[in-house]
Amino acid sequence: MHDLVIRNGTVVTAADIFAADIGVDGGIVTALAPRLSGRTEIEARGRLVIPGGVDSHCHAEQRMSGGVVNADDLFTATRSAACGGTTTVICFALQPREGRFADIVPEYAQRATRCAVDYAFHLWLRNPSEQVLAEELPALIAAGHRSVKVFMTGKANWLDDLALLRVLAVAREHGALVTVHAENWGIHQFMAERLAAGGFRHPKFHAVLKPAIGEREAVHRIASFAELLDTPIQVFHVSAPEAAAEIEAAQRRGARVHGETCVQYLALSAADLNRPGFEAAKWVFGPAPRGSADRHALWDYLKRGVLDVVTSDHAPVNFDAADGKKRWGEDAPLDQIPNGIPGVETRLSILWSEGVAPGRITPCEFVALSSTNAARTFGLYPRKGTIAIGSDADLVVWDPGRTDRVTNAALHHAVDYTPYEGMVLTGWAETTLLRGEVVHHKGRYLGREGQGQWLPRAAYDWLRPAGRFPSGYDPFGQRVTHPDLQ
Ligand code: MN
Repeated sequence: MHDLVIRNGTVVTAADIFAADIGVDGGIVTALAPRLSGRTEIEARGRLVIPGGVDSHCHAEQRMSGGVVNADDLFTATRSAACGGTTTVICFALQPREGRFADIVPEYAQRATRCAVDYAFHLWLRNPSEQVLAEELPALIAAGHRSVKVFMTGKANWLDDLALLRVLAVAREHGALVTVHAENWGIHQFMAERLAAGGFRHPKFHAVLKPAIGEREAVHRIASFAELLDTPIQVFHVSAPEAAAEIEAAQRRGARVHGETCVQYLALSAADLNRPGFEAAKWVFGPAPRGSADRHALWDYLKRGVLDVVTSDHAPVNFDAADGKKRWGEDAPLDQIPNGIPGVETRLSILWSEGVAPGRITPCEFVALSSTNAARTFGLYPRKGTIAIGSDADLVVWDPGRTDRVTNAALHHAVDYTPYEGMVLTGWAETTLLRGEVVHHKGRYLGREGQGQWLPRAAYDWLRPAGRFPSGYDPFGQRVTHPDLQ
């Protein structure tokens, strides 16, 4: 007799599909077998049971400068996640440009105690000072923060090449993964100057302000750095096929370069920006939405595993608010419109609807892309990301046959719009369980504030370096291996 049994469902993992009941005790999966019985039972006949989604790219309640605020706090964002079938999120602890991590990480940790699902943080590094790199970052990595986010663009965010290399080196030496926003800052500034001079102020020109060519260049550069230092990286939100091609080329050279994309690059395009007035700002996010044809080409890279994680990049900014999209007015310069769209709740349904329903990917690939691969990449597997004996009972009863329309009124975030309003999606989370407790059923949030747990991450094998130094110099072991210099 188990605490809980999910009966008669079809279990889907990244590897297999099979009929089994799932037994849960103490929040952990303890049995996968036919005809189990439990003190509580959930009937799942005709539905799939999938591992809870892992959304490894989710912004909420960040302390940003400039007066733009995330519409979601860590509770509302994670409540929204739960209602969409996501049970683990990785959010961001944003280092001040001139400040220290020590000043802000405890504060983020405190505010995150309100989370509704399990969570970790990426350390968003903006000040690569010697003290930060030599002392703070190693200490935070050792304390269980195993991922570091860096930007190659944006006035308040970008790091130069030397700083990027130094961060990658610290991550390799101390066992953390660097994730990268890879776009070219010089191109963005140049385009902004010329577009402003040409009078192009309508938000739709966001699509040319930050072109795919700038992403392709930056991906090539950061992939080369990862290769030079023999360390894995994950490139965030790969939006363009030419950027994905750079990742594939790096992988063929043996580099550990992984690529994430987001559902918006699969479901939206620059055509969504092409509408009258400031309304277009609802689709301003970075990297910019690409052409309609690019959107289809990304599926090939997902199918081949070049891109292996699909997230939301949930970046909630209210549309009709003075601290949101309208912070600098409806006539704001093109490069000052606040970027970001919400999406943590709609992620799984869009991926199913665009991916599995039309036959582009299989249900197992869906699970890999939405949960398993992110868990592996960020050191959470197999506690998260799969349905196996000993894993957390983060389970979603998934209704693959339900077709419904997205309305912002039915979502559980704290944002005043969704860029997916009116979109008809097939495949919805029916019931979400976090460590064996029902937190959502049929569109109703049933969990409670503070139910989520922080997930400290130990050093994990996925990060293990290969020991290959194509430059002929190992800067970590201080060895010159160049064949002509022996
Ligand atoms: Mn982001």
